[in-house]
Amino acid sequence: MPGQRKYFAVVDASHGGDERGAALSDQLAEKDVTLAFARQLKQQLENRGISTLLLRDGDINLTFDQRASQTNSVHPAIYLCVHASQGSGLRLYTALIPAGGESHGPFLAWDTAQAPFLSASQATAASVAVELRNQEISVRTMAAPLRPLNNIGTAAIALEFAPAGGKLSDLYSSDYQQLIAGTVAAGIVDARARLEAGQ
Ligand SMILES: [Zn+2]
Repeated sequence: MPGQRKYFAVVDASHGGDERGAALSDQLAEKDVTLAFARQLKQQLENRGISTLLLRDGDINLTFDQRASQTNSVHPAIYLCVHASQGSGLRLYTALIPAGGESHGPFLAWDTAQAPFLSASQATAASVAVELRNQEISVRTMAAPLRPLNNIGTAAIALEFAPAGGKLSDLYSSDYQQLIAGTVAAGIVDARARLEAGQ
């Protein structure tokens, strides 16, 4: 894309407001963990010279369509959606594009906005996975029909932030959040040239 981008990356803290996400413990709602981690991720990206927009920087509701349209309107090179779980190790998701997108109705175009960018998304997820493995953090990459990935018109990955070894307190440890966020940011830097070229 010619010209200057205002934001290279968009980071989206999933859930928010009265949509709490998973109950990670009695006290801990997923929406709060995703916001704390998303703020760390923005910081770590910006430390590496990557301008970043945080889509939700407070405890508010956003629909999937709002998240996708706000992202598409700023034309970032990469969209990163953050979830959290009590699992063990990280998961990176890329879109699973619905089959049969032959008609060109407005809804199908919306549902397959991700299709031209899927290989860039997969390559970015692979870069992030390499960095995580270099830090000996277990990671799995997979395709999933996870909204709003299909509606994003740029490279897009969702990451599920989770403790390294099933230790729940990792989820709210700022040291652990910073380690993971810094490692993910390093993976985005590795993919940067390709993302800048829109491939
Ligand atoms: Zn979630």
